[in-house]
Amino acid sequence: MRFDTKAIHGGDQKPDPQTGAVNVPVYLTSTYAQSSPGVTKGYDYSRTANPTRAVLERTIADLEGGVGGLAFSSGLGAFGTFLWSLKSGSRILAGDDLYGGTVRLLEHARRTWGLAPQYVDLRSPEQLERALSESAARVVYFETPTNPLLTVLDIAEISRRAHAAGATVVVDNTFATPYLQRPLELGADVVLHSTTKYLGGHSDIVGGALVFRDQETYEQLKWLQNAAGAVPSPLDCFLVLRGIHTLGARMRAHQAGATAIAQALTNQPQVKRVIYPGLASHPQHEVARRQMSGFGGMVSMELNGGTEEAQKFLSRLKYFYLGESLGGVESLVEAPALMTHQSIPKEDRERRGITDSLLRLSVGIEDPQDLVDDVLGALRG
Ligand SMILES: *Cc1c(COP(=O)(O)O)cnc(C)c1O
Repeated sequence: MRFDTKAIHGGDQKPDPQTGAVNVPVYLTSTYAQSSPGVTKGYDYSRTANPTRAVLERTIADLEGGVGGLAFSSGLGAFGTFLWSLKSGSRILAGDDLYGGTVRLLEHARRTWGLAPQYVDLRSPEQLERALSESAARVVYFETPTNPLLTVLDIAEISRRAHAAGATVVVDNTFATPYLQRPLELGADVVLHSTTKYLGGHSDIVGGALVFRDQETYEQLKWLQNAAGAVPSPLDCFLVLRGIHTLGARMRAHQAGATAIAQALTNQPQVKRVIYPGLASHPQHEVARRQMSGFGGMVSMELNGGTEEAQKFLSRLKYFYLGESLGGVESLVEAPALMTHQSIPKEDRERRGITDSLLRLSVGIEDPQDLVDDVLGALRG
């Protein structure tokens, strides 16, 4: 099966045997009647397993090419459950451009149970090698493309080095989705998703997922999924699965809009820099071409000027709603320095390239020309 077919028929999705319903039923039940004590039809309590969730989990695993998948109540619920699997004192080498909530939880884990996160510029093989050689790392954790600077990290190269040092590689694949990038095929061990974003795709649910390359880690995390209990509702599972059915079609549309906008913004006098992995000017364009089958729907841009210019631009946009989050059918824009990354001290932000006039666009699936007109109109005022 090719990707678009798998999204609809993978994970053993098939019409309901009792009624022929083409969609998986939403099993809104917490418990299951047993014919005698301990004799079940495979389900006993919905924290442990639920039939709607099971189909979603198999489908995500299929799309990522893993042995099994687990769904969670949010991306951070998935990450938190993964952290529970680590022993106190475990060293985690993490990318230095991560979702803010991920860093918040890593730092909490440092303070309360002695996990040892260290942030590394994973663009540099030398920095990774140095960090790996200092003392044994249990995990290498990163996103690619990163948020909000859309830095692309070489999954195969990082995995090779991490594995040689005995570390497990976990990749947050939220921005790329399995349609554009499959980290397990490139050597990673675990994939994390915020299904809130592109997999759900309609800004109507919050959810997360983990997918595994080996059975043992899958079983361990499945045990923890039940033990910690950060599971999604059956209705949310249904909505993510419905989103997945159109993932390929939506990603193609997101990408058409993002490409048109990235090109239109290039060489505008009000724009200092456009960041899109699909542009030849992107510093890791070659890595992106190698490991992704497309460049996605996120575009970042820096305006000439500061907060004032950014605010003016934002207030003039018609179709791009000002808001956090991403990956929905509607276009969104945000100012990281004022919104998602406000908690990082200004000095650190600027050093990383997150200036006051940096804006992150999540390009929706509206007509690309309308979006280009909107952005150029807002620039010209
Ligand atoms: C949103 C996001 C998360 C967190 O997911 P939630 O569903 O909001 O808990 C993690 N990683 C990335 C890259 C994200 O964009």
